[in-house]
Amino acid sequence: MNKGGVFVVAGPSGSGKDTLFKELFKRKPEIKFSISSITRPMRVGEVEGEKYNFITREKFLSMLENDELLEYNEYIGNYYGTPKAPVIAAIENGDDILIEVDVNGAKEICQKLPEAITVFIMPPSYKELKRRLSGRGTETQDLIDKRMKEALNEIARATEFDYIVVNDDIQTAVDDIIEVMSSSRLALKRQKNLIDGVLSNVES
Ligand code: ADP
Ligand code: 5GP
Repeated sequence: MNKGGVFVVAGPSGSGKDTLFKELFKRKPEIKFSISSITRPMRVGEVEGEKYNFITREKFLSMLENDELLEYNEYIGNYYGTPKAPVIAAIENGDDILIEVDVNGAKEICQKLPEAITVFIMPPSYKELKRRLSGRGTETQDLIDKRMKEALNEIARATEFDYIVVNDDIQTAVDDIIEVMSSSRLALKRQKNLIDGVLSNVES
């Protein structure tokens, strides 16, 4: 059986990742999503177990100690981590899985799973990012300022990714993500075994 593909998606807070994922999963319900374990307090409208499992700092540190996380990062005072077991299960079952992380998490996953395809969700401009983040109305002004500061560093590190999808028009951006997922099946880093297979069957 073919192994599932791992798609690692990052982008600054407010760039529209959640919005694009909701649309993506409507169109591609067969794709699995990695539910992160996080210590941030729940926002209004968030549901336990939908995108995140909201856990205590103690529980997070025990997951870390027991090697249950594929990667983790501390972002503005809270821990965010990707549980390892569901990702490995999806790969082995031949399911494609999408993992949302920050730029540090993306780097860590690529070191552990070099075949992972990375996508950066870029806002059309810094000004529009600020408008979206403020307009969402889920953070205090202090947290918006901190997130906008983080965004500068994250956008500068978009060069580390395989693909950049600009989220200007939602439908166009979702089309682009689907196209990346489909064409990346042919990417060299997902086909290394194929080359070894052909070379190992050469008759002299
Ligand atoms: P993220 O998950 O990256 O933090 P969200 O999906 O929560 O971002 O989007 C932040 C805000 O921007 C939300 O209010 C959302 O409705 C809005 N938004 C997302 N994508 C677009 C877009 N393409 N055009 C206009 N507004 C958008
Ligand atoms: P938010 O608080 O807006 O939900 O997320 C804050 C940041 O953490 C975003 O950049 C988001 O992509 C990132 N993030 C979400 N889940 C994970 C995860 O499992 N690991 C890491 N490293 N970052 C995550």
